Amino acid sequence: MKPALWLLALSWTSWVVCVAHAQTPGTRPPQKYEVLGRETLSELIAIDTTVDHGSTIAAKAVAARALANGFAQTDVTLVTPKERPDSASVVIRLRGRSSARPVLYINHLDVVPARREDWTFDPFKLTERDGWLYGRGTIDMKGQDAAVLTSLIRLKQEGFVPARDVVAAFTPDEETRSQWGVGWLLKEHRNLIDAALVVNPDGGEAALKKGRRLYVGVQTSEKIFTTFELETTDKGGHSSRPTAENPIYRLSAALTRLSKHRFPVHLTSTTRLYFERRAGIESGQVAADMRAVLRQPPDPAAVDRLSAIVETNIQMRTTCTTTMIEGGHAENALPQRARATVQCRLIPGETQDSAAAAIRTAIADPKVEIHVKTAANVAPESKPSPDIFNVVESVTHAMWPGVVVLPLMSPGASDSVFTRAVGIPSYGVDAMFDDLDDARAHGKDERIGVAAFGEDLEFTYRIMRAVSELH
Ligand SMILES: [Zn+2]
Repeated sequence: MKPALWLLALSWTSWVVCVAHAQTPGTRPPQKYEVLGRETLSELIAIDTTVDHGSTIAAKAVAARALANGFAQTDVTLVTPKERPDSASVVIRLRGRSSARPVLYINHLDVVPARREDWTFDPFKLTERDGWLYGRGTIDMKGQDAAVLTSLIRLKQEGFVPARDVVAAFTPDEETRSQWGVGWLLKEHRNLIDAALVVNPDGGEAALKKGRRLYVGVQTSEKIFTTFELETTDKGGHSSRPTAENPIYRLSAALTRLSKHRFPVHLTSTTRLYFERRAGIESGQVAADMRAVLRQPPDPAAVDRLSAIVETNIQMRTTCTTTMIEGGHAENALPQRARATVQCRLIPGETQDSAAAAIRTAIADPKVEIHVKTAANVAPESKPSPDIFNVVESVTHAMWPGVVVLPLMSPGASDSVFTRAVGIPSYGVDAMFDDLDDARAHGKDERIGVAAFGEDLEFTYRIMRAVSELH
């Protein structure tokens, strides 16, 4: 009970401070900015930014809105790779009072494909129905793009001058993981987006369960993916003369052993804090188990139970799983080759080599070779620093008293991997509340709530204002 009471007390003081600071009571922005946010979202949804179309048209639309709403030409920069004219980014700068290194928002404009025939509505037209806004990219992440742009414009029009520059980059190529997005900007235009701190709304998460607001997550790290190929060969021969050396059997046996391998529990400062706080919003056995895995050493029975739940298992350890398989070359020939693709998601701090060594031990067969297919793009954890957590907690508690702020390690990948890799602490922050049991990003009938979008517009504005004052 004690920590909860303490949080409650903190939320009240924060509420007073925050309302005085932001001068807007309530959880929705002034009407004018809610309308602007909606128009921006509608425009972005209508521009197809799937990989075949690129993001240049959307980047130009973002630039045009900034220019039409008070930003000077010199503070709105469109950059286009010579080799890829369809992959432009736009960078907008809200000038601050000092030359301290800026806060950078990274926002991707591209979306994954969606087919009209698979959807109830046209995925490339924003459709409002029964309190929901439907369209490809509403939750990932054109809704957040609209919130960031609208917040920048609102700060500008209110005459707010931050302590340091706030820079927002709207980029292509996040969903395809190719080379013209944030990674390219850092390589080719570092001066344009150099920063002391990165906020990436794409990595944030705000969870609802059965209609109840559960938590606002701050992503401080993500699992690192790396892909291996397991391969075994033999001289083959006629299928009428089978031998014990059949590579398909050998590989199958190796994969069966791998399927039973469990990587050791490896908690980081992020996941320790995650389980500690998550336990406070869970109940019964799950809550007790979350506390028990934090003991040194972790309680083995609790580890077993949490390992049986996908969501908690992936927070506790590195995982590797087989995703593709091929083998053999003719119906009537013994196979000469069998190959499997194994993808791993590493806890930050572990390496490609340590994963390969663990696989080698697990498969226990020197005749199965292990090659790296996709090398790990290594990025460290950004420490769950009190500065950023205080900001997110004060805004969250002011808007939704009692909602917990959780540090998150994403099991998937985001563009923060690039900014973390060059040493910029990067945090995923967003509060577009979404149902944990009905996640539609990348899926059919992707949607956000009308109210959730309105509140995210306000949350994004308050966060942007507050982080720009951090030292
Ligand atoms: Zn995304």
